[in-house]
Amino acid sequence: MRDTGVIQMVAHSNLRPSLNDERFDVVVIGGGINGVAIARECARGGRHTLLVEQSDFAAGTTSRSTRIIHGGLRYLEHGDLAQVRESLRERGQLLRQYPSLVHRQEFLLALSSKSPRSALAVRAGLWLYRRMSGQRLGNGQSERHRLERMLDDGRHFSVFSFDDAQCEFPERLVAEWLVEAVRAGCVVRNHAQVLTVVAGHGKVTGLRLRDQLSGAEETVTATWIVNATGPWADHICQRSGIRTSHPMVGGVRGSHIVLPKFAGAPDAAVYTEAVDGRPFFVIPWNEQLLVGTTEVKDTGDPGATKPSAEETEYLLRSVQTLYPRAQISEGDVRCAFAGVRPLPYSPGAKLSGLSRRHYLHDHSADGAAGRTSVIGGKLTTATSLARECAVKIGIAKAGIATGPRQIAVANGGRLDELMERKIAEVAETGGIARESATVLVEWYGEQSMTIAGAARNRAELQETLCPHTGHIVAEAVHAITNEHAVTLGDVLLRRVPVALGVCWSPECSWVASKGVGSAMGWDERRTTEAWEGFEAERAAFLQKPAAATSAVSGH
Ligand SMILES: Cc1cc2nc3c(=O)[nH]c(=O)nc-3n(C[C@H](O)[C@H](O)[C@H](O)COP(=O)(O)OP(=O)(O)OC[C@H]3O[C@@H](n4cnc5c(N)ncnc54)[C@H](O)[C@@H]3O)c2cc1C
Repeated sequence: MRDTGVIQMVAHSNLRPSLNDERFDVVVIGGGINGVAIARECARGGRHTLLVEQSDFAAGTTSRSTRIIHGGLRYLEHGDLAQVRESLRERGQLLRQYPSLVHRQEFLLALSSKSPRSALAVRAGLWLYRRMSGQRLGNGQSERHRLERMLDDGRHFSVFSFDDAQCEFPERLVAEWLVEAVRAGCVVRNHAQVLTVVAGHGKVTGLRLRDQLSGAEETVTATWIVNATGPWADHICQRSGIRTSHPMVGGVRGSHIVLPKFAGAPDAAVYTEAVDGRPFFVIPWNEQLLVGTTEVKDTGDPGATKPSAEETEYLLRSVQTLYPRAQISEGDVRCAFAGVRPLPYSPGAKLSGLSRRHYLHDHSADGAAGRTSVIGGKLTTATSLARECAVKIGIAKAGIATGPRQIAVANGGRLDELMERKIAEVAETGGIARESATVLVEWYGEQSMTIAGAARNRAELQETLCPHTGHIVAEAVHAITNEHAVTLGDVLLRRVPVALGVCWSPECSWVASKGVGSAMGWDERRTTEAWEGFEAERAAFLQKPAAATSAVSGH
């Protein structure tokens, strides 16, 4: 007899019951961080809710961000104290509720003497920011000295330290929220595209969608429709013949490059000015350095956006200028990726000055009452945006406060006592190595025991996904069984995002595909197809710049 885990998993991937003619109170279109947060809020508020995502949850802008959980320092520069307060409050909640996915991160602000910004104003701003956030972080001296040693000799820098937060894997945060939404009764469907929103007599009545796996088209009826498609927000209106007086979104592309950590690189994130004076970040991320971003107007298909050669070159030049001694070259760029910020449409405005605030557009005046579009927003404020949206559609008291589902990692990377006990327990339960137990506890918190339990006495589930990671095949099985992953890309780029790691190569992809295929009972053809599909998605997302490709192939 086959193990139930595998049977469930195979059954799950085939189990997409038709939604045709179903009636929902609320349909949320778009499964980025905002859409998932809204769907969770509505389901918790007792509404029969459907969440539809054309690709995979978090595959859009959410996984293309800088991954900072901003306390809102930048809004202080624009005098927007209300937004700073909101960001700080939301950041605090994320730190408390998801302590191993969202952690504190020290930032160093390096201000060159040639900067038009005044060091005095920055000092005053940081003082206010620290007071508002109740920051009690050390003064960051050792990190400051480390950075000063690496900086360009020819320029004098003033270096300030401040406290912010980072979510290295918003993909995992979205996966957690998705499971919470489903637990509250939400129906979720990824790889299903909304084709049109149907309206009659000035009010929405439902929508038509296409299942991207089967090609089947279905119609559902709905009282409320929330358009949470981020940079796609206008596209869905155009398709549905809903006319707004002007476009809602002014898409602005932002690109990043990923570099290896170089010797002497600070552990703090660095916030400074790029070669043209624009702000840019160099952030320790996933054992690498994430460098970004750019701001380029982009009105194309957000799903096909890519970093241009000029953006990659600009980011590289900026980091080379900042750290001349690190001798970073083009060949060091591991990959580059881009996303489109769904900023409010503001023709003629300076891109860097565009508001990062979200707002809700009510389509009553456009002949589609009952439909709301979400414009803008940040990872940090997704939960408060969701609450606002729920109130708008008449859910007075939606949120159910949840205690931490995760286990806190002590500051400074030292695992606290609780963590140590949990790791030992998980390793023992699953019969897995300590390294695997550690990464399981870090990513899944209490759920790590369930995953470890499934791996017990199952050698193929205890295998690591590639030879360089502690993450195991059981996590991939869990992703398909419990977290609505359908393709190998859903698994390896988002639920268990090992393919974003330092080591990842086509060989790692093949080893992982074989491991997952064998646990799933796939034949060789199916495994090969899954691997090919995954490699195509990985290459389209994590672009290899030409110089990096030639440097790698030249080895
Ligand atoms: C370069 C860059 C850096 C950023 N850095 C940060 C940062 O450090 N911190 C921070 O807080 N924020 C940051 N942001 C902003 C943040 O990432 C976004 O505001 C946020 O991810 C938007 O989430 P969303 O859910 O609205 O959109 P998305 O994540 O784009 O989700 C929208 C979803 O809708 C789906 N969709 C579209 N059309 C359809 C359809 N017809 N049917 C079904 N589904 C559809 C898409 O596939 C997509 O998954 C950054 C953004 C960018 C671009």
